[in-house]
Amino acid sequence: MGKTIAIANQKGGVGKTTTAVNLAACLAAAGRQALLVDLDPQANTTSGCGASFDSLEGSIYEVLLGQATLESIVCPVEPTPLHLAPSHIRLAGAEVEMASVIGREKKLAQALEQVVDRYEVIVVDCPPSLGLLTVNALSAADSVIIPVQCEYFALEGLGKLLGTVRLVQRYLNPALEIEGVLLTMFDQRLQLSRRVAAEVRSHFGPKVYRTAIKRNVSLAEAPSFGKPVLIYDAASTGAENYTDLADEVCETALAALSAAP
Ligand code: ATP
Ligand code: MG
Repeated sequence: MGKTIAIANQKGGVGKTTTAVNLAACLAAAGRQALLVDLDPQANTTSGCGASFDSLEGSIYEVLLGQATLESIVCPVEPTPLHLAPSHIRLAGAEVEMASVIGREKKLAQALEQVVDRYEVIVVDCPPSLGLLTVNALSAADSVIIPVQCEYFALEGLGKLLGTVRLVQRYLNPALEIEGVLLTMFDQRLQLSRRVAAEVRSHFGPKVYRTAIKRNVSLAEAPSFGKPVLIYDAASTGAENYTDLADEVCETALAALSAAP
């Protein structure tokens, strides 16, 4: 059975989508059967994988509302072995539409049950909020990776995120764990970047990945070509950093899977 990892932080623009797309693509390139789920109405993961809304059969919106199966909406991310469950701007209405649905926090978990045996790892990109969509991701996940941008106010709001994780653990998903904290947009030349990194490491200790994602122009450019960085610019620092992160995730989160008979 696969491991489901949510990429969450309610702070906007900290590198959730960049991490979801490129970690999933690097895990797939390393031979892991991987599914990437876009749970953000902004659908940046979907467009960053080159999926165009017009050609989509359906999206995670229809799945959450019980109008489509997850299987039926999954599409390949060519030319990679990665699979994608796309989002759509329609998802913006889902929180309101699901408000009176019984078991609304567990809709993604239910949908993933149909496919969890087929994948070794499922990566879920969350929107920048702690609303029903992120709660669905945390309810469905085995663990959560928290990207933290190496800039001022980086730690602000993390208390609220950790509080939400605790509430989900208590009421919805007792098995949920913090998988790791990831430093993003790190710039070794900036004192501020180094200071924030040191602060995050002293706060979260060994939970912080050895690999920090450096600021890298290829990572920012790749989505506009609809490609993971590994395809857009395989020789870039961004591709190297996310490959190293995927190695770490294989060593830690997926180690038990490799050991299984
Ligand atoms: P949102 O909260 O809106 O969903 P997010 O947390 O998913 O945002 P991203 O979309 O991954 O954040 O990143 C925000 C912006 O920063 C994007 O334009 C992205 O291309 C850019 N970016 C992310 N990581 C890096 C990096 N390591 N180097 C350079 N640019 C980056
Ligand atoms: Mg995003």
